[in-house]
Formats: sequence, C-alpha cells, structure tokens
Amino acid sequence: MAGLVAAARLRELGRVVTVRERGTRAGGSMLLSSCVVWRHRDFDAFRAECPGGDERLQRLVWERLDDAIDWLVARGAPVVWEETGNPRTVGKRFDPPGLVAALAGDVELGVDGRVDGPLVLCTGGFGGSAELVERFVAPAAPLRLRANPWSAGDGLRHALERGAALTPAMDEFYGRNMPDAPWDETQLVGVSQLYGRFARTFDEDGVEFFAREDVSWSETNVVQATAHRPGARAYYLLDEQALGERVRGSTVAEMVAAAPAEARIALEDLPFAAPGGTVAAVRVAAAITHTIGGVRVDERARVLRGDGTAVEGLWAAGVDAGGLAAGGYASGLAQALVLALAAAEDAARS
Ligand SMILES: Cc1cc2nc3c(=O)[nH]c(=O)nc-3n(C[C@H](O)[C@H](O)[C@H](O)COP(=O)(O)OP(=O)(O)OC[C@H]3O[C@@H](n4cnc5c(N)ncnc54)[C@H](O)[C@@H]3O)c2cc1C
Repeated sequence: MAGLVAAARLRELGRVVTVRERGTRAGGSMLLSSCVVWRHRDFDAFRAECPGGDERLQRLVWERLDDAIDWLVARGAPVVWEETGNPRTVGKRFDPPGLVAALAGDVELGVDGRVDGPLVLCTGGFGGSAELVERFVAPAAPLRLRANPWSAGDGLRHALERGAALTPAMDEFYGRNMPDAPWDETQLVGVSQLYGRFARTFDEDGVEFFAREDVSWSETNVVQATAHRPGARAYYLLDEQALGERVRGSTVAEMVAAAPAEARIALEDLPFAAPGGTVAAVRVAAAITHTIGGVRVDERARVLRGDGTAVEGLWAAGVDAGGLAAGGYASGLAQALVLALAAAEDAARS
C-alpha cells in the first residue's frame, strides 16, 4: 500500500519514480485485506489504546487521515462502505483491486526495491521472516503468516545497515488466531476466529491463560498471548450462549463452522478435560499479519538514528515504520497512507 501511495504522490508532484516490487503482483497485504482505512474517533481514545506509541506520529495519522482518504477517493479509488461500522472508529472501506488500480503506475515486479539513491522503504515489515520474528517477537513456536509472503524485513535490514534506530514494541504484532489447519490466502478474512471475547481460552497444557473480559475489541492482545503459549496455539472453548453471540454480522457458530474440520476438535479429543457447559472446541494458531515495531521515523517519515538525526535520502512508510500502534492496535492501512504521503512530500522537497 505505502509504496503505491508514495509513488502516486511523487508523480503528482512532478517526480519520476519507480516502484520496485519484490512480489509477483502489486498491492502487498492491502490486496488481501478487508481494506478498511480508519482512525480512532477520538485522539484520546487512540492514545489510551496504543499508549506505547509515538504521540507525534499518532497525531499526524489522526489529523491527516480524513484528507488522505479524500485524496484516494479523488483518484478514483472505489468506496465500498462510507463508514467503518465500528462506533470507535471513522474511515472508509475500499475495494482492494480497485484501490491498486487507482494508485498503480508502472510497477516493476519480481525485483528487490533496495537501490542506491533516494529511497522510500515500504516493504511491509518483517512478519514474513521466521528469523526476525524469532529474534524480536520470540514466539513459543513459528507463527503462521496471515499476510503477503514477501514482507520479510528487507526494509528493516536496509535501514539498520544505514544506521537507523529501532522503535519500542519490537515484540508486538497485529494478527489473528486462525484455525490450526491448512488455509490459503483467499481465506485470510473468512476463517479468522474472531470471538476470543466470548470463548474460554486454554493452552495445550490445559491452562486457562486469558480471561474473556480482558480481550481487546481488536483481539490483538489474546493473539499475542497465544503466540507465547506452547506451540503458539490455543483452544477456544464455547458454550451454547457463546455460539449465539454475533461478531461483525456473523454468529460465533457460523465462524466456527467456517473453520476447516481439522481445527474443530471433539471434546473427547481435547488434551485436557473441558469445563462443564462446553459444547464446541476450536484449536487456533497465532498468525501474524504485520509487525508493530520497526524503523524509527519522524513526522516527515525520515528514517532516524538513535541520536535523532535523519539518515540522508532514506524514508520509511507503512509498517516498515514502527511504534505507531505500540501497546494496542491501529489501522495499518491508515499508517501506510499517511506516512507514504508524508514521505513523498518530503522527498519531493529535497
Ligand atoms: C487479511 C487481512 C485483513 C486486513 N484488514 C485490514 C483492514 O481492514 N484495515 C487495515 O487498516 N489494515 C488491514 N490489514 C493490514 C494491512 O493490509 C497492512 O497493515 C498494510 O497493507 C500495510 O501496508 P504496507 O504498505 O506497509 O505493506 P504491504 O501493503 O504489505 O506492502 C508491502 C509490499 O512490499 C513488498 N516488498 C517486500 N520486500 C520487498 C523488497 N525487498 N523489494 C521490493 N518490494 C518488497 C511486498 O511484496 C509488498 O507488496 C489487513 C491485512 C490482512 C492480511
């Protein structure tokens, strides 16, 4: 997302720019996403939900997002929903292929984007690198990838080679608990098991490790906790009442039914005794969508060293830039959009 936005803005500002895309298609994880570009309705709520984040960057995204969304609409990006459907947030939902078409100029596919000369890093974080995830997130077992396969930390590595500093929250990530069974990239939204707030959550050893009432609305916290349990897995146990609850227009029973059969575990096959009243069990695996920590940047998206000075000719946008949502969850697409515009505008001035 960020690379396409930065390039489109730079072209608009009269610059000649090349998007170099490592994958076989443009659009990154945005193309696979629900494509809701959002911000918290209240800035104080944003701060409260992501208390470890860089306040200056949070304010930048919060203040610029509405105009940035208008910019997307003006470029012809097709809007699917005028509102997010979540009372905590404001924004719009776009059609992903339509958004790619509205942004994409020439994109060179299948090439590494790290080149000499002025460079906006937009490689989508390091969730696709088992090695970097092991080093920074330190899960109990390798995490499943719920994202494009090419975001493997190239931007982070390049920035570090050039003296960049890292942000706090390098161990945090946004993801979902997914069925512990095979699924493919067409199912990343459809089979997500997004009902931790109604389930009782146990690990492989039968330890109930996360209380329903502590699950955040985005469920990011229970997913991160699952990553640190044996096998980076958990069991969601449900009673009749839980199965009837609704999440985003579906009942929990429908979400359970969407999980592949291998993940729906008969109660007698659980490795521990289920509590009374349990009628269904799903084994889930923590899956990473994108990393939350990353390269340190300022409000112009310039990559910073530890002493606060900027690395010459180097910007980072999207989730290559870290720390914005530390402690919680915020829209990765909003971060990509606003930081990419900021990077492009600063690069065009320099
Ligand atoms: C199923 C799903 C649902 C989601 N729903 C939402 C949602 O509704 N709202 C929201 O805000 N976020 C959502 N997200 C998250 C969102 O998609 C990401 O936060 C966002 O795409 C991050 O933007 P980005 O530009 O940093 O990375 P990406 O969009 O992933 O783009 C990174 C690009 O860099 C390329 N790349 C990597 N390394 C190199 C290299 N060395 N050289 C060249 N190219 C390279 C990759 O191939 C990729 O195309 C969702 C994600 C998924 C998977």
